[in-house]
Amino acid sequence: MSRVTLVSFDIDGTLEVGEPPGIVPVALVRTAKRLGYLVGSCSDRPISYQQDLWERLHIAVDFTVLKHRLADVKGRFPAAAYYHIGDTDTDAFYATGAGFSFLRADAPARRLWPSELFAEPPRRARS
Ligand SMILES: [Mg+2]
Repeated sequence: MSRVTLVSFDIDGTLEVGEPPGIVPVALVRTAKRLGYLVGSCSDRPISYQQDLWERLHIAVDFTVLKHRLADVKGRFPAAAYYHIGDTDTDAFYATGAGFSFLRADAPARRLWPSELFAEPPRRARS
């Protein structure tokens, strides 16, 4: 059984590099990668746009899909938990429909995200 966490990011209105910019820093995507999560984007932007974006940011994502394709992502990647982070009701609609937990990317809702989700594990003391 997979114990991996999968996190899907909307782009526009969600990521700081979106148009309009959202509250989610690219650093958070890097943190998710560092934590070993499966990471990717799910956006109305064409796949080629999504791929170019990640390439420009030097982040090797696991998937890039159109908004209504989250169920495909779930089918492709066994994971213990699935999250989609987005800024609109459309994100919420597709996320919950595909069996993802929806995390809204605005400042008040950000405080309600599970705090452990992006918590870096404590550094081990050097011995
Ligand atoms: Mg959006």
